[in-house]
Amino acid sequence: MAEYEAATEQLERRVYIGLREDNLDPQDVVALACELLDWSHCTEAILEVVERNPAEVPPAEMTALARRILDDVGFEPGFDLAPERLETLRAALRIIARDLPTRGIEGEPEIEVLEDWFPTGAGVRLADGDRLNWGGHILPSTCDDPTMALTSLTIMIQESLLEQTWQVWPVCPRHDLGVHGSERDGEAVWWCAGDGGHVLAPVGELSRALGRRRHK
Ligand SMILES: [Zn+2]
Repeated sequence: MAEYEAATEQLERRVYIGLREDNLDPQDVVALACELLDWSHCTEAILEVVERNPAEVPPAEMTALARRILDDVGFEPGFDLAPERLETLRAALRIIARDLPTRGIEGEPEIEVLEDWFPTGAGVRLADGDRLNWGGHILPSTCDDPTMALTSLTIMIQESLLEQTWQVWPVCPRHDLGVHGSERDGEAVWWCAGDGGHVLAPVGELSRALGRRRHK
């Protein structure tokens, strides 16, 4: 497996970068298709690239074929190849960080890319050095969509904190129930199951929802 991964991944990365930077080398696509075929991956796009003369394939078609092949093999660029995914995750952390003081956590948390994990993902390091990546880490593939990134990050932070202290957070003041990070109607929210379910607050606006009750 290691042999397969090294050679094939190298080619997948080259093809991905070629697509991304708009300077795809058809020979890389052919090499990738041949490599995949050697390892018994066989899809229409792979066969087409192997069977046709690359010199006769128009660039737009080669581009489309390359995209299909990367899709076929489920290639996912990591944070190194797709730094915008890391930016999306950092933006999500700035939002959830606004809720952390309600849990007694102060200071600026940071995203930490976990190079030692496979596949490479990301965790969170709090200002005091505590690491939050219990129950897994955030995969780059979750970071194309800001809402999905924020929801995944919220769940990971919440589960990590729960695991560390067994203190339920946050709690819905109206129902006295623990609420959970969840995606509802395309928004990352704190969701309470009480009374058939309701949004306690959008993620990032928890202090207002909790503060209103406290001052009642
Ligand atoms: Zn509630």
